[in-house]
Amino acid sequence: MSGPRIGVLALQGDVREHLAAVAGVGAEPVPVRRRAELDAVEALLLPGGESTTMSHLLRELELVDVLRARLADGMPAYGSCAGMILLASEIVDAGAEGRAAIPLAGIDMTVRRNAFGRQVDSFEGDVSFAGLAEPVHAVFIRAPWVEHVGPEVQVLAEVAGHPVAVRQGGVLATSFHPEVTGDRRIHRLFVDIVAGQA
Ligand code: GLN
Repeated sequence: MSGPRIGVLALQGDVREHLAAVAGVGAEPVPVRRRAELDAVEALLLPGGESTTMSHLLRELELVDVLRARLADGMPAYGSCAGMILLASEIVDAGAEGRAAIPLAGIDMTVRRNAFGRQVDSFEGDVSFAGLAEPVHAVFIRAPWVEHVGPEVQVLAEVAGHPVAVRQGGVLATSFHPEVTGDRRIHRLFVDIVAGQA
C-alpha cells in the first residue's frame, strides 16, 4: 500500500532531493511540470531554487491560474525557501518588473525575498519547531522570512524574531531546506497533513 500521491513541482531547484524525501516518508512522489500532472496529484511540494525563474516558467507553462485555483480550493501544499515565496499572498522585493516572483496565495502572509541580507545570506542553525520534540537543523540559502501573517496562520518556527516556518490549514512553508539534511520530520509532517493526520 502506498501513501498519498504528492506532486513535486519540477521546474527548477532541489527536485530530486524532495522526490526522494517524499518517498522516504512513505508517500508516492510525482514530478509535476504540466497541467495534467498537477490534476493527478492530491498535494504539491514547491522546492527551493529561484522564485523569479520558477515564476517565469509557471507563466510560460500556463500553470499560474490553475495553481492558484487548486490552492484556493484547499489543495495541501508545502513550499521550501523559493517555494515559501511562491505560496505567499504578498512578496516584498519580488524582483524586476516582468520577471517578478508571483504570489500564489496559499498562505495569508507577506514574505520578504533574500531577507537575511548579504553578510548572512546563507547559514545554518538549530531551530525549535512547534510540535517537534527536538530542534530542526535548518539550512538557509538566500532565504526569505515572513514579515506579516494573517490571523489564520500558525507560526511554527522563528529566527531573529521573524517566522521561518508557518502553516495555514493544509499549507505549510519553511524558509529553510529540510531536503538537504536527511532529517525527514518536515516531510513527514507534510505527508501527515495531506493524510489528514496532523
Ligand atoms: N533567493 C531565492 C529566491 O528569491 C530563494 C533561495 C532558495 O530557494 N534557496 O527565490
